[in-house]
Amino acid sequence: MIKPEAVSIEQAFGFANNRAFCKYVCPVPVLQKITSRFSLLKVKIDPAKCVDCGMCEKVCPMDVKLLEYKNNNQRVLSTECIWCDTCIYECPQNAIASTIGLDAGFKERINYR
Ligand code: SF4
Ligand code: SF4
Repeated sequence: MIKPEAVSIEQAFGFANNRAFCKYVCPVPVLQKITSRFSLLKVKIDPAKCVDCGMCEKVCPMDVKLLEYKNNNQRVLSTECIWCDTCIYECPQNAIASTIGLDAGFKERINYR
């Protein structure tokens, strides 16, 4: 039988690693999400360079599904993106860059854990 305390600690660490407070509890991002949707600056994957290794999604602290945006020929539109540039630095193909532009439509593509 699993001890209740052990499960709680495990879950707490899981949520901490997942930035659960930032994503699901903190009220500050509500306004930021609106402005971030209309931000001109966003990261984009160059499909010609990308080899679908998955590293960018693995290192993204906000669990953004970058490759779904790439596969839909979109910049990374997720309002969860905090523009930390981790994906840019970790991509072995240098396929990701910050770009300036306007985007039509919107779909939030993130992994909910
Ligand atoms: S890390 Fe770079 S090469 Fe790998 S899937 Fe992401 S964009 Fe493509
Ligand atoms: S810039 Fe940071 S938060 Fe945005 S998609 Fe890349 S790794 Fe994720």
